[in-house]
Amino acid sequence: MAPKPDFDVAIAGAGIIGASVAWHLCRAGLRVAVIDAVGPAAAASGASDGAVSVASKKPGLMARLASGSLQYSRALAVGGVLEGAFSFRPAYVFGSGAVELDALDALVAMLGSLAGPVRVVKDGHATLLPGLGEQVDRLVVLDGEGHMPGHKAVRAYLATPGVTPIWPAQIVGIEADAVGVTLNLGARQLRVSYLVAALGVSTPTLFPGMPILPRAGQLIVTDRGPRGALPGALTAAAYLVAKTASGASLPRPPVVIDPLATGQYLIGSSREDHSDISRVDFATLRLLLSRASAAWPALRDRRVIRAFAGVRAAVPDGLPIVGPLPDAPRVIMATGFEGDGICLSALIGREVALMARGEAPQAEWATDLAALSPARFTALRREGAA
Ligand SMILES: Cc1cc2nc3c(=O)[nH]c(=O)nc-3n(C[C@H](O)[C@H](O)[C@H](O)COP(=O)(O)OP(=O)(O)OC[C@H]3O[C@@H](n4cnc5c(N)ncnc54)[C@H](O)[C@@H]3O)c2cc1C
Repeated sequence: MAPKPDFDVAIAGAGIIGASVAWHLCRAGLRVAVIDAVGPAAAASGASDGAVSVASKKPGLMARLASGSLQYSRALAVGGVLEGAFSFRPAYVFGSGAVELDALDALVAMLGSLAGPVRVVKDGHATLLPGLGEQVDRLVVLDGEGHMPGHKAVRAYLATPGVTPIWPAQIVGIEADAVGVTLNLGARQLRVSYLVAALGVSTPTLFPGMPILPRAGQLIVTDRGPRGALPGALTAAAYLVAKTASGASLPRPPVVIDPLATGQYLIGSSREDHSDISRVDFATLRLLLSRASAAWPALRDRRVIRAFAGVRAAVPDGLPIVGPLPDAPRVIMATGFEGDGICLSALIGREVALMARGEAPQAEWATDLAALSPARFTALRREGAA
């Protein structure tokens, strides 16, 4: 007979995805343990820009999910769990040269077709935003996007009564059967009815079949300047091009300039195919800074006070991996969010919480979530073997 479960659900990983799932499960009255090798927001969730952006998504499935998640995050921010973590802000996407201008056309068309919370309020020349660099050919001004520092959202979600925190504790083994999952934490074992694996880039250490690739990104923080000079995030259309171009590295870094409430700027970020967060190099930072200060010349008056790197969990087909494992349905995967995990966390947390209660996702999202299922890789392997 299987041992009695210690918890209804264990969440492996206290990043933004695990924290959101935990909050949704606790609200439904389940007994939830969150286990992390280091602690909350220790990995990618603590090292991101925090853009909750529809504009930066690939048209289709990812844009739909981002739009739904943005809408839901906005609801959770009004007197809800994300109040103080999520904020609204205008967003600006700028471009120069034929490829970027085409990307801006595609962006305007995509936002029109979504009819979601993000809308184009102005589309024209650089003069629409006083202070913008003269080399910018076109600027699209958006309303309705959001910003959510990952560490703040993780803290807010995990402050919910009912979450049992278990950290620092590394999961070193997982055994799943028909009625539950046993976790090996080295010093002890934990028995649960369901496991949500939200391990980000570390997923393959416990699930070697998962096709997760590390994609590092370097970020820069400046000293404080006058507040409010730049009212919202300024994103290069090169970022949109990077989402559709094959290959991770672009000759021109797709820069995003985020004005922080402190008057500082957060400037990101590179995309590099490795997992070494100690690799912060001057050549990449110089490229980011030169592109950023050409777009926003006021940055030339600021000093860099810090640079750091984080690692995204990328998947070869560009989609996250979400859903029960075909051969171990009590294990729900929620990984591979690359540069979109902060944005998608509210919606994914809600839907994965349903799966971890043995229920189907909301009907509205069932088709889109089916496309993210880990079963797509099993199917590929079977085809290859045939
Ligand atoms: C430079 C950069 C900029 C980004 N900008 C944005 C942005 O603007 N907008 C956006 O939406 N997204 C952005 N992202 C992406 C976003 O940060 C990630 O998609 C998201 O944080 C992933 O969250 P997660 O919970 O899946 O994983 P993580 O935050 O990586 O959490 C995984 C957790 O699992 C734990 N863990 C690993 N192995 C074990 C084990 N064996 N036992 C126990 N615990 C374990 C780790 O300690 C970690 O805390 C950015 C990422 C980077 C690097």
